[in-house]
Amino acid sequence: MVETQIAARGITDAATLRAMRKVPRHLFMPAASARNAYSDGPEPIGYGQTISQPFIVAYMTEVAKPARGKTALEIGTGSGYQAAVLAEIIDTVYTIEIVPELAREASTRFKMLGYGNIVARYGDGYKGWPEHAPYDIIIVTAAADHIPQPLKDQLAEGGRLVMPVGNPAAVQHLILLIKKKGGIIEKSLVPVRFVPLKRLGN
Ligand code: SAH
Repeated sequence: MVETQIAARGITDAATLRAMRKVPRHLFMPAASARNAYSDGPEPIGYGQTISQPFIVAYMTEVAKPARGKTALEIGTGSGYQAAVLAEIIDTVYTIEIVPELAREASTRFKMLGYGNIVARYGDGYKGWPEHAPYDIIIVTAAADHIPQPLKDQLAEGGRLVMPVGNPAAVQHLILLIKKKGGIIEKSLVPVRFVPLKRLGN
């Protein structure tokens, strides 16, 4: 998977490639679809949600510039796969999931696989997780038509935020924000298709 889908498509960051080789994607999927674990696309994980395509996980990881000493916030834990890939590289990953069943399943999985540096909770990630802010990395794995202001506020100086932005029902663009000297630099990367960012109470 890493050779043909990820390295061949231009991912070069050594830490990202190492993490993608190490994390067993099949253990993040329902048993019934685990035989598709190393194929080249998103896969259903129940509750209308998906585990992202391996290449997209690698791409978002590389763009976020993970390194030891950094902390990250992920919105949309889902299966927990993206959080685990980050946790192989950085110090601590905080992750929030809005579907209670998925949040519970992911927490069990992190414990089973020994990811003591992932802190997971149920909730609406729109408002981020101010208690542990600021974050060097914020990764949002669900799409919306704008980047939530609380997430921009919780980004550290020099921090990087990656999120699919656009029409949640169609194709979005992966957007990279970099906070520099209080200002924000915004770059549009590649077209992507993610499930919509939901709001509690909507
Ligand atoms: N990172 C995941 C991808 C999951 S798909 C993985 O590696 O498997 C996106 C997830 O975002 C879904 O599980 C969905 O329930 C969740 N989600 C949607 N809106 C959310 C919100 N406002 N806060 C937290 N999670 C949300």
